Amino acid sequence: MKRLNLKTRIYLSIIAMILVSFFATGIFAYTNFKSRNEAYHSSRLERKEKAIQASMDYFLKQQGEVNTDSIPIIFSDKICELADVHNLDLNLYDLSGKLLISSNPNIFTEKGIPQKVSTSILQKLTDGDVRIVLEKGKDNDEFYLAYWHFSDLEGRPLAVTNIPYFDIQNENRQEIENFLIDLILIYVGLFIAASILALLLSNYITQSLQRIGDKMKGVDLGKTNTPLEWETNDEIGSLVTEYNRMLKEAEKSAIATARSERESAWREMAKQVAHEIKNPLTPMKLRIQYLQRAMDDKDPDWEDKFKNTAVSLINQIDTLTNIANEFSNFAQMPKAKEQNIELSAVIEDAIQIFSLESDVEMTFTTQTEHTNITADKDQILRVFNNLLKNAIQAIPVDRKGEISIYLKEYNGMVKVEIQDNGSGVPEEIQENIFIPNFTTKSKGMGLGLAMVKNIIENHGGEIWFKTKKDEGTTFYLTFKV
Ligand code: ADP
Repeated sequence: MKRLNLKTRIYLSIIAMILVSFFATGIFAYTNFKSRNEAYHSSRLERKEKAIQASMDYFLKQQGEVNTDSIPIIFSDKICELADVHNLDLNLYDLSGKLLISSNPNIFTEKGIPQKVSTSILQKLTDGDVRIVLEKGKDNDEFYLAYWHFSDLEGRPLAVTNIPYFDIQNENRQEIENFLIDLILIYVGLFIAASILALLLSNYITQSLQRIGDKMKGVDLGKTNTPLEWETNDEIGSLVTEYNRMLKEAEKSAIATARSERESAWREMAKQVAHEIKNPLTPMKLRIQYLQRAMDDKDPDWEDKFKNTAVSLINQIDTLTNIANEFSNFAQMPKAKEQNIELSAVIEDAIQIFSLESDVEMTFTTQTEHTNITADKDQILRVFNNLLKNAIQAIPVDRKGEISIYLKEYNGMVKVEIQDNGSGVPEEIQENIFIPNFTTKSKGMGLGLAMVKNIIENHGGEIWFKTKKDEGTTFYLTFKV
């Protein structure tokens, strides 16, 4: 399942909180209202019940002998009078729960009041447990029914008195409805305000994070970075401060690592150069001692031997000169003399040199007008010399070599592509070719590409390559215009 983004989650949480609190308040208020209302109405009903009881007792005292059977006759007029005076209905049942007389006989069909008192209520009346019950009549309307024993002057029960109480209905519902409408109005206002607030808040938080994220994207540990700035002293502010502190430390350690890497690279290189120089020295010494002996012995072939040895020594010395030159080229690199140069002219120079000493076909296509760059001309020439030399050396002997060079515009920079049809760079060494000292050639020093990369990066550009086995390699270089 896709996770919602932070902004939506904050927004939805706030809205959910409002809805939950709305429902909680609503339910709490509703139940509270209901129980308070019920308490109020039942106490009112009790008062009415007491008043009627008193009137009935008073009336009973004025009568002679009274029993359950005579009640309908004795109370035939009185029951309506009592109902009118107290403004309610009154029913009398015998002790088995059968209706004796009612102030309003229609009430049973109209309101759904039971014609008979249930045995459970009768039992409870006998036990003295209950007098008021909440009933549901027709149309699910709720009403109270109050029951009590009507007793003679000696306290013997004569009948069951019942008064229904309907007022509970309308007032109760009306009050709750009014309250809920008010509550809804308040909550709609609150909801709108909170929605806006939630939106602003979630925007504020996520935009802050976004801003920090954008700034972090620009961080390059190899360079010094400007610390992030945060105006307010909030949680994000402390995050930023902590981040800035870590950035500074990371920069320090990156610089230290780079320095130690550079130092160890140099050390490695010095070892390699010493080794390369030492290699031919012993054979050279042996050759000279061999000549010395020939001379001492007055060897008749002395002259021939001398010529051969001289050729071999000159060759070895040339190799040593080459090594020394390459190393000194590499070592001289940091002192760049920047000037405005025409890149295409430098490329043409390089092509010129190599077209003399190889039969590889070289084509050069310029596809942009902006070919002026600020750079050290000698270093840039060295870059192309190295790349062309590598390209030529990569072409198998049995293949007609073709090298195409393109000069293009690229993201506001100049891009040079050098494409050969050589054997390609095998996958297992692709990672290493820019590392100083790495070579696959018996006479190579492995410094060429390391130097090229160094020069290009010192000039603010980039270098990368694409290669296909047996089809060739293309090197890409970019330069700031
Ligand atoms: P060197 O030329 O002395 O070996 P470089 O640093 O110039 O040193 O090159 C390193 C290695 O990269 C080479 O030995 C070679 O294996 C590989 N390489 C460089 N350029 C190419 C190319 N155009 N095609 C195939 N392999 C290449």
